[in-house]
Amino acid sequence: MPTFNKSLVWFRRDLRVFDHAALFHALKQSEQVFCVFIFDRAILDNLPRQDRRVEFILQSVIELDEALRRKGGRLIVRHADALTAIPALAEQLGVDAVFVNRDYEPHAVSRDAMVAEELQAAGRTLMAFKDQVIFETDEVLSLAGKPFSVFTPYKNAWLKRLHLAGDDFFLKAYPVESYCTRLAEPPPNLRGDMPALADMGFEKTNLGTLGMPTGMSGAEILLQDFASRVDKYHLSRDFPAVKGPSYLSVHLRFGTISIRGLARKAVDAMRLQGCSGSTTWLSELIWRDFYFMILHFHPHVAERCFKPEYDAIRWESGEQAQTLFNAWCCGATGYPLVDAAMAQLNQTGYMHNRLRMVTASFLIKDLGIDWRSGEGYFAEQLNDFDLSANNGGWQWAASSGCDAQPYFRIFNPITQSEKFDAEGKFIRRYLPQLSALPGKYVHAPWLAPAAVLQKAGLVLGRDYPLPVIQHDVARQATLTRYAVVKKASVTAVDE
Ligand code: FAD
Repeated sequence: MPTFNKSLVWFRRDLRVFDHAALFHALKQSEQVFCVFIFDRAILDNLPRQDRRVEFILQSVIELDEALRRKGGRLIVRHADALTAIPALAEQLGVDAVFVNRDYEPHAVSRDAMVAEELQAAGRTLMAFKDQVIFETDEVLSLAGKPFSVFTPYKNAWLKRLHLAGDDFFLKAYPVESYCTRLAEPPPNLRGDMPALADMGFEKTNLGTLGMPTGMSGAEILLQDFASRVDKYHLSRDFPAVKGPSYLSVHLRFGTISIRGLARKAVDAMRLQGCSGSTTWLSELIWRDFYFMILHFHPHVAERCFKPEYDAIRWESGEQAQTLFNAWCCGATGYPLVDAAMAQLNQTGYMHNRLRMVTASFLIKDLGIDWRSGEGYFAEQLNDFDLSANNGGWQWAASSGCDAQPYFRIFNPITQSEKFDAEGKFIRRYLPQLSALPGKYVHAPWLAPAAVLQKAGLVLGRDYPLPVIQHDVARQATLTRYAVVKKASVTAVDE
Protein backbone atom coordinates (compact mmCIF):
# COMPACT_ATOMS: atom_id res chain seq x y z
CA MET A 1 0.00 0.00 0.00
CA PRO A 2 1.46 3.39 -0.88
CA THR A 3 2.20 5.67 2.09
CA PHE A 4 0.68 8.81 0.59
CA ASN A 5 -2.59 9.48 -1.08
CA LYS A 6 -1.41 12.39 -3.26
CA SER A 7 2.10 13.73 -3.86
CA LEU A 8 3.76 16.45 -5.89
CA VAL A 9 7.12 16.12 -7.65
CA TRP A 10 8.88 19.46 -7.90
CA PHE A 11 11.29 19.35 -10.87
CA ARG A 12 14.27 21.71 -10.68
CA ARG A 13 17.60 20.76 -12.24
CA ASP A 14 16.41 17.25 -13.14
CA LEU A 15 14.35 17.75 -16.31
CA ARG A 16 13.80 14.15 -17.34
CA VAL A 17 11.27 11.37 -16.85
CA PHE A 18 13.66 8.41 -16.63
CA ASP A 19 16.09 7.31 -13.92
CA HIS A 20 14.80 10.08 -11.64
CA ALA A 21 15.09 9.47 -7.89
CA ALA A 22 12.36 11.84 -6.66
CA LEU A 23 9.88 10.83 -9.36
CA PHE A 24 10.52 7.14 -8.70
CA HIS A 25 10.05 7.43 -4.92
CA ALA A 26 6.95 9.61 -5.31
CA LEU A 27 5.35 7.13 -7.70
CA LYS A 28 6.26 4.17 -5.52
CA GLN A 29 4.95 5.75 -2.34
CA SER A 30 1.81 7.53 -3.57
CA GLU A 31 -1.58 6.73 -5.11
CA GLN A 32 -1.49 9.82 -7.30
CA VAL A 33 1.46 11.95 -8.39
CA PHE A 34 1.34 15.49 -9.78
CA CYS A 35 4.35 17.26 -11.30
CA VAL A 36 5.42 20.91 -11.28
CA PHE A 37 8.21 23.12 -12.58
CA ILE A 38 8.58 26.70 -11.35
CA PHE A 39 10.44 29.34 -13.34
CA ASP A 40 11.63 30.80 -10.08
CA ARG A 41 11.44 34.59 -10.03
CA ALA A 42 13.95 34.71 -7.19
CA ILE A 43 16.53 33.48 -9.75
CA LEU A 44 15.14 34.73 -13.06
CA ASP A 45 14.58 38.33 -11.99
CA ASN A 46 18.34 38.74 -11.52
CA LEU A 47 19.31 37.51 -15.00
CA PRO A 48 19.94 39.56 -18.14
CA ARG A 49 16.85 39.67 -20.38
CA GLN A 50 18.57 37.52 -22.99
CA ASP A 51 19.81 34.32 -21.42
CA ARG A 52 20.44 31.11 -23.31
CA ARG A 53 19.88 29.08 -20.15
CA VAL A 54 16.30 30.28 -19.73
CA GLU A 55 15.62 29.30 -23.34
CA PHE A 56 17.34 25.94 -22.85
CA ILE A 57 15.24 25.28 -19.75
CA LEU A 58 12.00 26.31 -21.47
CA GLN A 59 12.60 23.96 -24.40
CA SER A 60 13.55 21.16 -22.01
CA VAL A 61 10.47 21.79 -19.86
CA ILE A 62 8.23 21.63 -22.94
CA GLU A 63 9.75 18.24 -23.80
CA LEU A 64 9.37 17.08 -20.20
CA ASP A 65 5.68 18.04 -20.24
CA GLU A 66 5.15 16.13 -23.50
CA ALA A 67 6.85 13.05 -22.05
CA LEU A 68 4.75 13.21 -18.86
CA ARG A 69 1.56 13.57 -20.91
CA ARG A 70 2.44 10.45 -22.91
CA LYS A 71 2.61 8.62 -19.58
CA GLY A 72 -0.74 9.93 -18.32
CA GLY A 73 0.50 12.93 -16.33
CA ARG A 74 1.04 16.61 -17.07
CA LEU A 75 3.50 19.25 -15.93
CA ILE A 76 2.16 22.27 -14.09
CA VAL A 77 4.41 25.20 -15.04
CA ARG A 78 4.45 28.49 -13.18
CA HIS A 79 6.47 31.70 -13.39
CA ALA A 80 6.47 32.58 -9.70
CA ASP A 81 8.46 32.71 -6.51
CA ALA A 82 9.06 29.06 -5.60
CA LEU A 83 9.13 29.86 -1.89
CA THR A 84 5.45 30.72 -1.89
CA ALA A 85 4.26 28.93 -5.04
CA ILE A 86 5.16 25.40 -3.89
CA PRO A 87 3.37 25.47 -0.51
CA ALA A 88 0.37 27.18 -2.20
CA LEU A 89 0.17 24.56 -4.96
CA ALA A 90 0.60 21.74 -2.44
CA GLU A 91 -2.42 23.18 -0.61
CA GLN A 92 -4.51 23.57 -3.77
CA LEU A 93 -3.78 20.02 -4.92
CA GLY A 94 -4.25 18.66 -1.41
CA VAL A 95 -1.03 16.61 -1.52
CA ASP A 96 0.52 14.93 1.52
CA ALA A 97 4.13 15.28 0.39
CA VAL A 98 6.38 17.14 -2.02
CA PHE A 99 9.22 15.12 -3.55
CA VAL A 100 12.46 16.75 -4.75
CA ASN A 101 15.97 15.83 -5.75
CA ARG A 102 18.44 17.45 -3.41
CA ASP A 103 20.20 20.62 -4.57
CA TYR A 104 23.51 21.52 -2.96
CA GLU A 105 24.00 25.21 -3.74
CA PRO A 106 23.73 27.41 -0.63
CA HIS A 107 20.82 29.44 -2.04
CA ALA A 108 18.90 26.25 -2.92
CA VAL A 109 19.64 24.66 0.45
CA SER A 110 18.15 27.61 2.33
CA ARG A 111 15.19 27.88 -0.09
CA ASP A 112 14.40 24.19 0.41
CA ALA A 113 14.69 24.53 4.19
CA MET A 114 12.15 27.39 4.11
CA VAL A 115 9.77 25.47 1.82
CA ALA A 116 10.08 22.40 4.08
CA GLU A 117 9.16 24.53 7.07
CA GLU A 118 6.12 26.00 5.31
CA LEU A 119 4.97 22.57 4.21
CA GLN A 120 5.47 21.14 7.65
CA ALA A 121 3.41 23.89 9.22
CA ALA A 122 0.56 22.72 7.00
CA GLY A 123 1.08 19.08 7.92
CA ARG A 124 2.98 18.14 4.75
CA THR A 125 6.43 16.65 4.20
CA LEU A 126 9.28 17.58 1.90
CA MET A 127 10.99 14.36 0.79
CA ALA A 128 14.49 14.97 -0.63
CA PHE A 129 16.65 12.43 -2.51
CA LYS A 130 20.15 12.10 -3.87
CA ASP A 131 20.04 12.28 -7.67
CA GLN A 132 22.44 14.91 -8.95
CA VAL A 133 25.60 13.07 -7.91
CA ILE A 134 26.81 9.52 -7.46
CA PHE A 135 28.11 10.14 -3.93
CA GLU A 136 27.02 13.11 -1.91
CA THR A 137 28.17 15.02 1.15
CA ASP A 138 29.57 12.49 3.62
CA GLU A 139 29.36 9.31 1.53
CA VAL A 140 33.05 9.41 0.62
CA LEU A 141 35.27 10.28 3.57
CA SER A 142 38.86 9.55 4.54
CA LEU A 143 39.69 6.63 6.86
CA ALA A 144 39.70 9.18 9.67
CA GLY A 145 36.10 10.09 8.76
CA LYS A 146 37.10 13.52 7.45
CA PRO A 147 36.21 15.11 4.11
CA PHE A 148 38.97 14.95 1.50
CA SER A 149 40.57 18.12 0.20
CA VAL A 150 42.85 16.47 -2.36
CA PHE A 151 41.33 14.96 -5.49
CA THR A 152 43.36 11.77 -6.07
CA PRO A 153 42.72 10.13 -2.68
CA TYR A 154 39.08 11.25 -2.98
CA LYS A 155 38.86 9.60 -6.39
CA ASN A 156 40.45 6.39 -5.08
CA ALA A 157 38.01 6.27 -2.16
CA TRP A 158 35.11 7.08 -4.53
CA LEU A 159 36.07 4.18 -6.84
CA LYS A 160 36.59 1.84 -3.89
CA ARG A 161 33.15 2.62 -2.49
CA LEU A 162 31.62 2.01 -5.92
CA HIS A 163 33.41 -1.32 -6.48
CA LEU A 164 32.90 -2.62 -2.92
CA ALA A 165 29.15 -2.20 -3.23
CA GLY A 166 29.24 -3.97 -6.59
CA ASP A 167 29.62 -1.57 -9.52
CA ASP A 168 25.91 -1.63 -10.25
CA PHE A 169 24.58 -0.75 -6.81
CA PHE A 170 25.12 3.01 -6.88
CA LEU A 171 24.70 3.31 -10.64
CA LYS A 172 21.41 1.44 -11.00
CA ALA A 173 18.70 3.37 -12.82
CA TYR A 174 15.49 4.17 -10.92
CA PRO A 175 12.79 2.20 -12.80
CA VAL A 176 10.30 5.05 -13.06
CA GLU A 177 8.36 3.23 -15.82
CA SER A 178 7.19 0.48 -13.42
CA TYR A 179 4.88 2.89 -11.58
CA CYS A 180 3.93 5.45 -14.23
CA THR A 181 0.22 4.61 -14.03
CA ARG A 182 0.16 6.68 -10.84
CA LEU A 183 0.93 9.90 -12.71
CA ALA A 184 -2.13 12.13 -12.45
CA GLU A 185 -3.44 15.08 -14.44
CA PRO A 186 -4.03 18.15 -12.30
CA PRO A 187 -7.59 19.55 -12.16
CA PRO A 188 -8.24 21.98 -15.07
CA ASN A 189 -8.25 25.09 -12.88
CA LEU A 190 -4.66 24.37 -11.76
CA ARG A 191 -3.15 23.41 -15.10
CA GLY A 192 -2.26 26.81 -16.51
CA ASP A 193 -0.43 27.36 -19.80
CA MET A 194 3.20 26.90 -20.65
CA PRO A 195 4.67 30.43 -20.38
CA ALA A 196 6.42 31.86 -23.40
CA LEU A 197 9.82 33.57 -23.05
CA ALA A 198 8.19 36.97 -23.47
CA ASP A 199 5.65 36.21 -20.71
CA MET A 200 8.61 35.94 -18.34
CA GLY A 201 10.20 39.11 -19.66
CA PHE A 202 12.92 37.39 -21.72
CA GLU A 203 13.96 37.80 -25.33
CA LYS A 204 15.10 35.13 -27.75
CA THR A 205 18.85 34.44 -27.90
CA ASN A 206 20.94 32.80 -30.62
CA LEU A 207 20.43 29.35 -29.02
CA GLY A 208 18.43 28.15 -32.01
CA THR A 209 21.26 28.94 -34.44
CA LEU A 210 23.95 27.24 -32.37
CA GLY A 211 22.78 23.72 -33.13
CA MET A 212 22.81 22.96 -29.42
CA PRO A 213 20.24 20.23 -28.85
CA THR A 214 18.03 20.71 -25.78
CA GLY A 215 16.02 18.43 -23.53
CA MET A 216 16.27 14.67 -23.01
CA SER A 217 16.34 14.05 -26.76
CA GLY A 218 19.17 16.57 -27.17
CA ALA A 219 21.23 14.92 -24.46
CA GLU A 220 20.72 11.54 -26.13
CA ILE A 221 21.96 12.91 -29.48
CA LEU A 222 25.13 14.27 -27.84
CA LEU A 223 25.67 11.05 -25.91
CA GLN A 224 25.40 8.91 -29.06
CA ASP A 225 27.84 11.20 -30.81
CA PHE A 226 30.28 11.07 -27.91
CA ALA A 227 30.01 7.25 -27.70
CA SER A 228 31.87 7.01 -31.01
CA ARG A 229 34.69 9.24 -29.70
CA VAL A 230 35.03 8.37 -26.03
CA ASP A 231 37.88 5.88 -26.57
CA LYS A 232 40.03 8.80 -27.76
CA TYR A 233 38.86 11.23 -25.07
CA HIS A 234 42.13 11.11 -23.13
CA LEU A 235 44.06 12.04 -26.28
CA SER A 236 41.76 14.68 -27.71
CA ARG A 237 40.24 16.43 -24.69
CA ASP A 238 42.89 19.15 -24.41
CA PHE A 239 42.74 20.49 -27.96
CA PRO A 240 39.98 23.03 -28.45
CA ALA A 241 39.92 22.81 -32.25
CA VAL A 242 39.14 19.08 -32.01
CA LYS A 243 35.74 17.60 -31.15
CA GLY A 244 37.10 15.87 -28.06
CA PRO A 245 34.83 16.33 -25.03
CA SER A 246 31.19 15.29 -24.68
CA TYR A 247 29.59 18.77 -24.57
CA LEU A 248 27.13 17.25 -22.07
CA SER A 249 27.79 19.73 -19.25
CA VAL A 250 24.64 21.81 -19.83
CA HIS A 251 22.59 18.60 -19.81
CA LEU A 252 24.21 17.53 -16.55
CA ARG A 253 23.48 20.99 -15.21
CA PHE A 254 19.76 20.76 -15.94
CA GLY A 255 19.42 17.02 -15.49
CA THR A 256 18.18 16.19 -18.97
CA ILE A 257 20.51 13.21 -18.63
CA SER A 258 21.21 10.99 -15.65
CA ILE A 259 24.63 11.09 -14.01
CA ARG A 260 24.15 7.43 -13.03
CA GLY A 261 23.57 6.50 -16.67
CA LEU A 262 26.73 8.31 -17.75
CA ALA A 263 28.92 6.85 -15.00
CA ARG A 264 27.52 3.37 -15.76
CA LYS A 265 28.49 3.70 -19.41
CA ALA A 266 32.00 4.79 -18.45
CA VAL A 267 32.42 1.96 -15.90
CA ASP A 268 31.09 -0.65 -18.36
CA ALA A 269 33.49 0.50 -21.07
CA MET A 270 36.40 0.39 -18.62
CA ARG A 271 35.44 -3.12 -17.51
CA LEU A 272 34.83 -4.58 -20.95
CA GLN A 273 37.48 -2.89 -23.04
CA GLY A 274 39.84 -1.36 -20.49
CA CYS A 275 39.07 1.88 -22.33
CA SER A 276 41.54 4.65 -21.38
CA GLY A 277 39.19 7.31 -22.77
CA SER A 278 36.38 6.17 -20.47
CA THR A 279 38.74 5.97 -17.50
CA THR A 280 39.75 9.60 -17.98
CA TRP A 281 36.16 10.67 -18.62
CA LEU A 282 34.93 8.95 -15.45
CA SER A 283 37.61 10.91 -13.60
CA GLU A 284 36.04 14.13 -14.87
CA LEU A 285 32.64 13.01 -13.60
CA ILE A 286 34.29 12.33 -10.24
CA TRP A 287 35.71 15.90 -10.23
CA ARG A 288 32.08 17.00 -10.47
CA ASP A 289 31.16 15.04 -7.32
CA PHE A 290 34.35 16.29 -5.66
CA TYR A 291 33.45 19.96 -6.08
CA PHE A 292 29.88 19.37 -4.89
CA MET A 293 31.38 17.77 -1.78
CA ILE A 294 33.81 20.69 -1.27
CA LEU A 295 30.98 23.23 -1.50
CA HIS A 296 28.93 21.23 0.98
CA PHE A 297 31.66 21.03 3.61
CA HIS A 298 33.19 24.43 2.93
CA PRO A 299 30.33 26.76 1.93
CA HIS A 300 32.62 29.76 2.59
CA VAL A 301 34.31 29.07 -0.80
CA ALA A 302 31.33 30.74 -2.47
CA GLU A 303 32.72 34.05 -1.14
CA ARG A 304 36.22 33.48 0.12
CA CYS A 305 39.35 31.47 -0.63
CA PHE A 306 39.34 27.80 0.33
CA LYS A 307 42.79 28.44 1.82
CA PRO A 308 42.28 31.48 4.09
CA GLU A 309 45.86 32.75 3.72
CA TYR A 310 45.04 33.61 0.08
CA ASP A 311 42.47 36.14 1.26
CA ALA A 312 45.44 38.40 2.07
CA ILE A 313 46.28 38.88 -1.62
CA ARG A 314 45.71 42.41 -2.88
CA TRP A 315 44.24 42.48 -6.35
CA GLU A 316 44.46 45.28 -8.89
CA SER A 317 41.63 47.78 -8.65
CA GLY A 318 40.63 51.15 -10.10
CA GLU A 319 40.08 52.41 -13.61
CA GLN A 320 43.02 50.64 -15.24
CA ALA A 321 42.00 47.29 -13.72
CA GLN A 322 38.42 47.84 -14.91
CA THR A 323 39.67 48.58 -18.44
CA LEU A 324 41.73 45.38 -18.42
CA PHE A 325 38.79 43.39 -17.07
CA ASN A 326 36.54 44.75 -19.82
CA ALA A 327 39.16 43.83 -22.43
CA TRP A 328 39.26 40.29 -21.04
CA CYS A 329 35.44 39.99 -21.03
CA CYS A 330 35.05 41.03 -24.63
CA GLY A 331 38.09 39.15 -25.92
CA ALA A 332 40.34 42.11 -26.69
CA THR A 333 43.51 41.39 -24.74
CA GLY A 334 45.75 40.97 -27.78
CA TYR A 335 46.54 37.38 -26.79
CA PRO A 336 44.79 35.34 -29.52
CA LEU A 337 44.08 32.13 -27.60
CA VAL A 338 42.57 34.09 -24.70
CA ASP A 339 40.53 36.27 -27.04
CA ALA A 340 39.29 33.35 -29.17
CA ALA A 341 38.25 31.53 -26.00
CA MET A 342 36.30 34.54 -24.73
CA ALA A 343 34.68 34.87 -28.17
CA GLN A 344 33.61 31.23 -27.93
CA LEU A 345 32.08 31.93 -24.51
CA ASN A 346 30.35 35.14 -25.58
CA GLN A 347 29.00 33.71 -28.83
CA THR A 348 27.92 30.26 -27.62
CA GLY A 349 27.82 30.11 -23.79
CA TYR A 350 30.31 27.22 -23.88
CA MET A 351 34.08 27.27 -23.36
CA HIS A 352 36.44 24.34 -23.75
CA ASN A 353 37.93 23.14 -20.47
CA ARG A 354 41.56 23.85 -21.45
CA LEU A 355 40.54 27.38 -22.36
CA ARG A 356 38.66 27.91 -19.11
CA MET A 357 41.99 27.22 -17.39
CA VAL A 358 43.94 29.49 -19.76
CA THR A 359 41.53 32.44 -19.59
CA ALA A 360 41.10 32.15 -15.81
CA SER A 361 44.84 32.05 -15.31
CA PHE A 362 45.28 35.03 -17.64
CA LEU A 363 42.77 37.16 -15.74
CA ILE A 364 44.24 36.31 -12.37
CA LYS A 365 47.95 35.94 -13.01
CA ASP A 366 48.53 38.19 -16.02
CA LEU A 367 46.03 40.95 -15.30
CA GLY A 368 46.18 40.66 -11.49
CA ILE A 369 42.40 40.77 -11.18
CA ASP A 370 40.49 39.09 -8.36
CA TRP A 371 39.35 35.58 -9.37
CA ARG A 372 35.83 36.44 -8.11
CA SER A 373 35.37 38.93 -10.97
CA GLY A 374 36.07 36.21 -13.53
CA GLU A 375 33.99 33.70 -11.64
CA GLY A 376 31.07 36.13 -11.77
CA TYR A 377 31.47 36.72 -15.51
CA PHE A 378 31.56 32.96 -16.20
CA ALA A 379 28.49 32.56 -13.96
CA GLU A 380 26.60 35.00 -16.19
CA GLN A 381 27.77 33.57 -19.49
CA LEU A 382 28.19 29.80 -19.14
CA ASN A 383 25.24 27.65 -20.19
CA ASP A 384 26.55 24.97 -17.84
CA PHE A 385 27.24 27.36 -14.96
CA ASP A 386 27.37 25.40 -11.75
CA LEU A 387 28.48 27.13 -8.59
CA SER A 388 30.55 24.21 -7.30
CA ALA A 389 32.46 23.40 -10.51
CA ASN A 390 32.87 27.05 -11.50
CA ASN A 391 34.14 28.06 -8.09
CA GLY A 392 36.38 25.00 -8.00
CA GLY A 393 37.83 25.86 -11.41
CA TRP A 394 38.44 29.50 -10.53
CA GLN A 395 40.00 28.73 -7.16
CA TRP A 396 42.15 26.11 -8.86
CA ALA A 397 43.44 28.74 -11.29
CA ALA A 398 43.94 31.26 -8.47
CA SER A 399 45.85 28.62 -6.46
CA SER A 400 43.58 29.42 -3.53
CA GLY A 401 41.46 26.29 -3.82
CA CYS A 402 41.74 22.77 -2.51
CA ASP A 403 44.17 20.75 -4.61
CA ALA A 404 44.80 23.85 -6.72
CA GLN A 405 47.79 24.43 -8.93
CA PRO A 406 50.66 26.02 -6.96
CA TYR A 407 50.72 29.81 -7.19
CA PHE A 408 54.13 29.86 -8.83
CA ARG A 409 52.89 27.82 -11.79
CA ILE A 410 51.80 30.49 -14.21
CA PHE A 411 50.34 29.61 -17.60
CA ASN A 412 52.15 31.30 -20.44
CA PRO A 413 49.34 32.24 -22.86
CA ILE A 414 51.64 31.92 -25.87
CA THR A 415 53.11 28.54 -24.90
CA GLN A 416 49.63 27.23 -24.11
CA SER A 417 48.50 28.41 -27.53
CA GLU A 418 51.43 26.75 -29.34
CA LYS A 419 50.90 23.53 -27.42
CA PHE A 420 47.13 23.14 -27.58
CA ASP A 421 46.21 24.99 -30.78
CA ALA A 422 49.45 24.49 -32.66
CA GLU A 423 48.10 25.35 -36.12
CA GLY A 424 45.89 28.11 -34.77
CA LYS A 425 42.74 26.40 -36.08
CA PHE A 426 40.66 27.34 -33.05
CA ILE A 427 42.03 30.88 -33.03
CA ARG A 428 41.17 31.40 -36.70
CA ARG A 429 37.65 30.01 -36.15
CA TYR A 430 36.85 32.71 -33.60
CA LEU A 431 39.16 35.49 -34.75
CA PRO A 432 38.73 35.53 -38.54
CA GLN A 433 40.75 38.74 -38.74
CA LEU A 434 43.83 36.62 -37.97
CA SER A 435 43.02 33.91 -40.51
CA ALA A 436 45.64 34.99 -43.05
CA LEU A 437 48.50 35.10 -40.51
CA PRO A 438 51.04 32.28 -40.90
CA GLY A 439 50.90 29.68 -38.09
CA LYS A 440 54.20 30.90 -36.73
CA TYR A 441 52.73 34.27 -35.76
CA VAL A 442 49.13 33.45 -35.00
CA HIS A 443 49.91 32.90 -31.31
CA ALA A 444 51.57 36.31 -30.88
CA PRO A 445 50.77 38.60 -33.84
CA TRP A 446 52.80 41.52 -32.48
CA LEU A 447 55.97 39.48 -33.13
CA ALA A 448 55.21 39.28 -36.85
CA PRO A 449 57.40 41.44 -39.16
CA ALA A 450 55.62 44.39 -40.77
CA ALA A 451 55.71 42.71 -44.17
CA VAL A 452 53.95 39.61 -42.82
CA LEU A 453 51.25 41.70 -41.16
CA GLN A 454 50.79 43.67 -44.37
CA LYS A 455 50.48 40.52 -46.45
CA ALA A 456 47.89 39.19 -43.98
CA GLY A 457 45.98 42.48 -44.32
CA LEU A 458 46.26 43.07 -40.61
CA VAL A 459 46.84 46.36 -38.84
CA LEU A 460 47.46 45.81 -35.15
CA GLY A 461 45.59 48.27 -32.99
CA ARG A 462 42.94 48.58 -35.70
CA ASP A 463 41.93 45.04 -36.76
CA TYR A 464 43.22 43.30 -33.68
CA PRO A 465 44.50 44.75 -30.38
CA LEU A 466 48.10 45.02 -29.33
CA PRO A 467 48.74 42.99 -26.16
CA VAL A 468 47.32 44.76 -23.11
CA ILE A 469 50.19 43.56 -20.93
CA GLN A 470 53.57 41.87 -21.30
CA HIS A 471 53.41 38.36 -19.95
CA ASP A 472 56.95 38.37 -18.48
CA VAL A 473 56.37 41.61 -16.60
CA ALA A 474 52.94 40.48 -15.39
CA ARG A 475 54.39 37.19 -14.23
CA GLN A 476 56.92 38.94 -12.02
CA ALA A 477 54.17 41.16 -10.58
CA THR A 478 52.14 38.05 -9.78
CA LEU A 479 55.00 36.38 -7.98
CA THR A 480 55.33 39.53 -5.89
CA ARG A 481 51.58 39.71 -5.31
CA TYR A 482 51.51 36.10 -4.15
CA ALA A 483 54.51 36.62 -1.86
CA VAL A 484 52.06 37.03 1.03
CA VAL A 485 51.42 33.31 0.87
CA LYS A 486 54.89 32.24 -0.18
CA LYS A 487 56.38 29.22 1.48
CA ALA A 488 60.14 29.18 2.27
CA SER A 489 61.81 28.28 -1.02
CA VAL A 490 60.06 27.66 -4.28
CA THR A 491 61.22 27.94 -7.84
CA ALA A 492 58.93 29.77 -10.21
CA VAL A 493 57.68 27.71 -13.14
CA ASP A 494 56.42 29.18 -16.40
CA GLU A 495 54.20 26.65 -18.23
P1 FAD B 1 33.68 16.69 -20.64
O1 FAD B 1 35.14 16.79 -20.81
O2 FAD B 1 32.94 15.82 -21.59
O3 FAD B 1 33.43 16.22 -19.15
C1 FAD B 1 32.26 15.50 -18.76
C2 FAD B 1 31.62 16.14 -17.56
O4 FAD B 1 32.48 16.03 -16.42
C3 FAD B 1 31.34 17.62 -17.70
O5 FAD B 1 30.15 17.82 -18.41
C4 FAD B 1 31.25 18.05 -16.25
O6 FAD B 1 29.99 17.76 -15.69
C5 FAD B 1 32.28 17.16 -15.58
N1 FAD B 1 33.56 17.87 -15.46
C6 FAD B 1 34.56 17.91 -16.36
N2 FAD B 1 35.60 18.62 -15.87
C7 FAD B 1 35.23 19.04 -14.66
C8 FAD B 1 35.85 19.82 -13.66
N3 FAD B 1 37.09 20.31 -13.80
N4 FAD B 1 35.17 20.10 -12.53
C9 FAD B 1 33.93 19.62 -12.33
N5 FAD B 1 33.28 18.87 -13.25
C10 FAD B 1 33.93 18.58 -14.39
N6 FAD B 1 32.00 22.85 -15.31
C11 FAD B 1 30.67 23.01 -15.18
O7 FAD B 1 29.93 22.03 -15.36
N7 FAD B 1 30.14 24.21 -14.82
C12 FAD B 1 30.92 25.32 -14.62
O8 FAD B 1 30.40 26.39 -14.28
C13 FAD B 1 32.31 25.19 -14.80
N8 FAD B 1 33.14 26.27 -14.66
C14 FAD B 1 34.49 26.10 -14.80
C15 FAD B 1 35.33 27.21 -14.60
C16 FAD B 1 36.71 27.08 -14.72
C17 FAD B 1 37.60 28.27 -14.49
C18 FAD B 1 37.26 25.82 -15.04
C19 FAD B 1 38.74 25.65 -15.16
C20 FAD B 1 36.43 24.72 -15.23
C21 FAD B 1 35.05 24.83 -15.12
N9 FAD B 1 34.18 23.73 -15.33
C22 FAD B 1 32.84 23.89 -15.15
C23 FAD B 1 34.72 22.39 -15.58
C24 FAD B 1 34.86 22.01 -17.08
O9 FAD B 1 35.54 22.99 -17.77
C25 FAD B 1 33.52 21.74 -17.75
O10 FAD B 1 32.75 20.83 -17.00
C26 FAD B 1 33.69 21.16 -19.15
O11 FAD B 1 34.48 21.99 -19.95
C27 FAD B 1 32.32 20.95 -19.78
O12 FAD B 1 32.43 20.46 -21.07
P2 FAD B 1 32.05 18.97 -21.44
O13 FAD B 1 30.71 18.60 -20.92
O14 FAD B 1 32.26 18.83 -22.91
O15 FAD B 1 33.12 18.17 -20.60
